[in-house]
Amino acid sequence: MLYHHRRRYSGARALITIVSYNQFILGKRQGKFDPRSTPPVSNMVRLGVHVSVAGGVDRAVSRAREKGCDAFQIFSSNPRKWISKTIPCESAKRFLALQRQFGLSPIVDHMPYLPNLASPKEEVYAKSVEALARELERCQALGIHYLVTHMGSHLGAGQERGLARIVAALQTVFSLCDSDTVLLLENNAGTKNSMGSTFSEIAAVLESLPADRGRLGVCLDTCHLHAAGYDLRTPQALQATLDQFQDCIGRERLMLLHLNDCKGAIGSHLDRHEHIGLGQIGMEGFRAILCHPALSNLTMILETPVDAFRDDKGNLDVARRLASGIK
Ligand SMILES: [Zn+2]
Ligand SMILES: [Zn+2]
Repeated sequence: MLYHHRRRYSGARALITIVSYNQFILGKRQGKFDPRSTPPVSNMVRLGVHVSVAGGVDRAVSRAREKGCDAFQIFSSNPRKWISKTIPCESAKRFLALQRQFGLSPIVDHMPYLPNLASPKEEVYAKSVEALARELERCQALGIHYLVTHMGSHLGAGQERGLARIVAALQTVFSLCDSDTVLLLENNAGTKNSMGSTFSEIAAVLESLPADRGRLGVCLDTCHLHAAGYDLRTPQALQATLDQFQDCIGRERLMLLHLNDCKGAIGSHLDRHEHIGLGQIGMEGFRAILCHPALSNLTMILETPVDAFRDDKGNLDVARRLASGIK
């Protein structure tokens, strides 16, 4: 099965065409981030946390329910390994049944940390493409709505080569996998050589894959936005950042938020998550995010710390209070 995949990957790589990054950033869309263009699905944000799959993937559903989630995120694969155990059929069936029974939706899966879709190293790149294809297949089996992936690191090869790699990787994976799961590109904090810390970089990838529009969207992490220099700390700053997103990418591509406060200063490129409202984005920033009409039908997943000060439930409570307008 894996050998079969590898052969098809190398063939497909030769057929790839890429829109020039520079060409793309000259052709930005103009416009306001207008809440009226948002389809009215629900008038309340759906909130959830990242939960463990220890003991079997189906155990994650009960954990999410115990914490009071509307939605949740998992690592369906071991986040620190290349190969993970196959999910037993019974476990997948229980996962689906419990998720429906408890009305938890959407379900989000996060890619493991080792794959690097922008890698200039052939072996790592091939393994990364294979890992993404395999993960989409796992998502399909589990009825998962969104798969979040980081865009990777060009390791010094340069932004343009990194972008070409990512686009080629996604084209290959989409041509191989017939999955209903929507793949979401997550923005990065802007650590050295990392891809996807600017809206224009994410847009360049999306614009290069027009045929796969329905299969590809964006997940914005609020901590990473702040660390990369996008200001969310006041209603005015948030609006300006959302307007930039609208100009560059378009609201309709935004499917999910990772709701995390940030320990580091704005533009510091430090990816250190903090409890909601207690970091540099602060209560005013999160109130603005959670009450913004253009974000009100989004799902927001918390990846906040769990320590003596606050746990997942504590952070969910704060987020719910802010969303309901309680001071
Ligand atoms: Zn992530
Ligand atoms: Zn992070």
